[in-house]
Amino acid sequence: MTAVHDDPHRGPVTFSIVVPMFNEEEALTALTARLRPTLDGCGEPYEVVAVDDGSTDATARLLADLRALWPQLRVVTLRRNSGHQAALTAGLHRARGSYVVSIDADLQDPPEVIPEMLALARADGLDIVYGVRADRSTDSVFKRRTAAAYYWLMRRLVGAHVPAQVGDFRLLSRAVVETLKTLPDQRQVYRLLIPWLGFPSGQITYRREERVAGATKYPVRKMVLLALDSVTAFSAAPLRLATAIGALALVVCFAFLVWTVTVYTMGRTLPGWTSLIITVLFFGAVQLFCLGMLGEYMARIYTAVQARPTYTVAHDTDEETS
Ligand code: UDP
Ligand code: MG
Repeated sequence: MTAVHDDPHRGPVTFSIVVPMFNEEEALTALTARLRPTLDGCGEPYEVVAVDDGSTDATARLLADLRALWPQLRVVTLRRNSGHQAALTAGLHRARGSYVVSIDADLQDPPEVIPEMLALARADGLDIVYGVRADRSTDSVFKRRTAAAYYWLMRRLVGAHVPAQVGDFRLLSRAVVETLKTLPDQRQVYRLLIPWLGFPSGQITYRREERVAGATKYPVRKMVLLALDSVTAFSAAPLRLATAIGALALVVCFAFLVWTVTVYTMGRTLPGWTSLIITVLFFGAVQLFCLGMLGEYMARIYTAVQARPTYTVAHDTDEETS
């Protein structure tokens, strides 16, 4: 049994729910309507850590109003929009429960599954319970295709231990959270990092639902960034690609050399403009591509060396002294 964490202002909690939110004013009421009865039904002391990731709509005000009615709600406000993974980090770092469940605010992940996750973790002594999306038929074709490509690539690059179709709906034990807290403050991709830690884990399958209200906060730009972060955080394969392309080019060059010398000795030299242009353009492009890949890693080294925090907290309702 893991220890329950005490707090001077509030009682101990056995589990925390971390909900990153960015402009979720439209989803908030529906979220509360489903999340609260489920959690209250567990009959255990809990907290909901809503991380307001620099929302510019009415999210902050709605959360403040909600707090008056829902004492277990705790609001951690970030100073600016720092991104989904950074908001998750803020929530994980501040959660007090023996178990911490992270869930999206848009009800795509059903809160009703949370008690099942808790029961499974306790029954089997698991440190991690993943929510696995068994059915994504409500997601758009584009989202499903890109997600399938993402998980395929990650399993190949990072390793087969990455569970497929696992997003950020999962339960973590205090031990996992404390381990995560010891890691340097970088742009973490939790869905890859957590399986890599190697804690005993289990799964609960669920049906991915449609976003209850509002629009996705993950435009293609953020999806590409997440994919880039995922690749560079766990694999040096792209760096080695340059070596592979270089080796291949060498073989091709050698074949060309043999061919041109043969043609030359036969006295049949060609004007050769097309082949020249193609070679110059091709190798120019390959070199720029490889430089770009080097740049991706360098940019991340740069960020890591700067060691700036991924998020800064403006306010945490738990730190109010009254
Ligand atoms: N989110 C966030 N900061 C951001 C973008 C998203 O905290 O910069 C939150 C968002 O409010 C939601 C979760 O991350 O609770 C997942 O985002 P969304 O549902 O828009 O992503 P999708 O399901 O479309 O991939
Ligand atoms: Mg969503």
